[in-house]
Amino acid sequence: MSHENHHSHANPTLADEIHDHTEVLAAKCYQCGKCSAGCPLSDEMDYPPSVVMRMLQTGMPELEEKLLRSYTIWLCLTCEMCIARCPMEVDIPKVMDYLREKTLKAGKANPKAKNIISFHKAFLDSIQKTGRLYEMGLIVDYKMRSLNMMQDVAVAPKMFMKGKLSILPELIKERKKMESIFKKTFKNKEASK
Ligand code: SF4
Ligand code: SF4
Repeated sequence: MSHENHHSHANPTLADEIHDHTEVLAAKCYQCGKCSAGCPLSDEMDYPPSVVMRMLQTGMPELEEKLLRSYTIWLCLTCEMCIARCPMEVDIPKVMDYLREKTLKAGKANPKAKNIISFHKAFLDSIQKTGRLYEMGLIVDYKMRSLNMMQDVAVAPKMFMKGKLSILPELIKERKKMESIFKKTFKNKEASK
């Protein structure tokens, strides 16, 4: 992607970089916390979304590094609940997506996110090969991340208690279908090697 760099300082921060690539301005966030309150996964994240924005605002390299290596960026479901609640309409999922791509390229992804990443890669590959719509890929990704979380015994009961796993019946219904999509994806991957 070619974006003009609008920043004059010699050492652009991660927030500058994000702004250049996504047009999302971290500085717009005034730390009201509504995004974190509404995010269905903030309790499981190492840094909830409002903290992610604050870390970016500081421009401190050590915090930027922590963000790139965080589990948070892989847990984000792109559900857009945070945008709906944000008075400044900060597009946090876009930021998370940029951080995921950057961190993958740099080989800095959080080891806890191994399964999520393998699915993330699988669906990207699948879209590339089949030309399936990006939106479809996002739905697949969403479901696979949710399945992954359900397998995490430590996380799931906590989420049930809080009534945050309302997607469960749909997941059980769709599980077989999703498995076959992914089996096919992996088979295609093998065949094309
Ligand atoms: S898009 Fe990500 S950060 Fe925003 S509410 Fe959903 S899971 Fe949380
Ligand atoms: S809701 Fe918007 S303004 Fe409030 S903390 Fe989150 S990103 Fe910042």
